[in-house]
Amino acid sequence: MMIVMKEGATEEQIAKIVERVEQVGCSAHVSKGELLTVIGAIGSRDKDQELALEGAPGVDHVVPIAKPYKLASRQFKKDEDSVFEIGGRKVGGTNFALIAGPCTVENRDQMLDSADAVAAAGATMLRGGAYKPRTSPYSFQGLGREGLRLLAESRERTGLPIVTELLDLRDLDDVLEVADVIQVGARNMQNYALLAEIGKSKRPVLLKRGLSATVEELLMASEYVLKEGNENVMLCERGIRTYETAYRFTLDLLAVPALKELTHLPVIVDPSHAPGRRDWVEPMSLAAAAAGADGIIIEVHNEPDKAICDAAQQVPTSEFEALVAKLEAIVGVVGKTISRA
Ligand code: PEP
Ligand code: MN
Repeated sequence: MMIVMKEGATEEQIAKIVERVEQVGCSAHVSKGELLTVIGAIGSRDKDQELALEGAPGVDHVVPIAKPYKLASRQFKKDEDSVFEIGGRKVGGTNFALIAGPCTVENRDQMLDSADAVAAAGATMLRGGAYKPRTSPYSFQGLGREGLRLLAESRERTGLPIVTELLDLRDLDDVLEVADVIQVGARNMQNYALLAEIGKSKRPVLLKRGLSATVEELLMASEYVLKEGNENVMLCERGIRTYETAYRFTLDLLAVPALKELTHLPVIVDPSHAPGRRDWVEPMSLAAAAAGADGIIIEVHNEPDKAICDAAQQVPTSEFEALVAKLEAIVGVVGKTISRA
């Protein structure tokens, strides 16, 4: 259940409620909004009578949450979007996160050139994979620690926060040294052990929707991170498997308004992996912004035709600025602004 405290409830009253929630064997998650504090009592099914919090000092009202995800649910933060800061850039609410960069880190020149261009075009954050989830084990698997080192150098140079994927828990400490945001790829969306550990790390997360996962399954996956006390989760629609073979995946843009109704978490769209073709990336980027997404994560490369992976879909850095100009216009129409430091 969710306990909504009165405006102006004191710290002492909040602490008392937390204590009572924990006394009956539930965990308490305190979320402080601008005006209201909400306490999520997780594991509280059938404990309503025992807790009897309705009318307790400082409590405004109590709402049961029937959904299989709780902290992610819209009810948990009524009428309020989650807004958090990553390296001085705001994510969520009226802020639009423009995350851009190459699919993978290939070498120093490629990474730094791409990073410089992305920064010059006014991106919010820089992406680049050092650990790559490849369908074939014989495909390039990423530069690993050397890739992380080049990402660190790119951040130093551009000031842009880094978004990079963690594939395997054994690399968590290395990735934590560099990542401002840990990306969980589509293939790992249901790796619950990985999600819980990332939750404990408290590092912001970009959680991609699984290839065949429903919107509800994505929300339940996010709950594994939130439950560990990590509130900084972005959800990402990246295309799902359908019967359609005219493109790589079907970008499910309806997931954007659907998710915005069900959750307070920021919703990001990856317009690159579903088309698999660079000329379709711009229309999907603009459509994502128009649909109300809180950002996009887009693949941009200094020399895409020479890229080791996803060559066909990466937008050349030379065309990125023009794309950003169009995007900026659509972002403005829906009442948001591209988030910059
Ligand atoms: C990626 O962003 O580079 C990636 C591998 O994405 P996904 O997990 O969505 O396939
Ligand atoms: Mn890719």
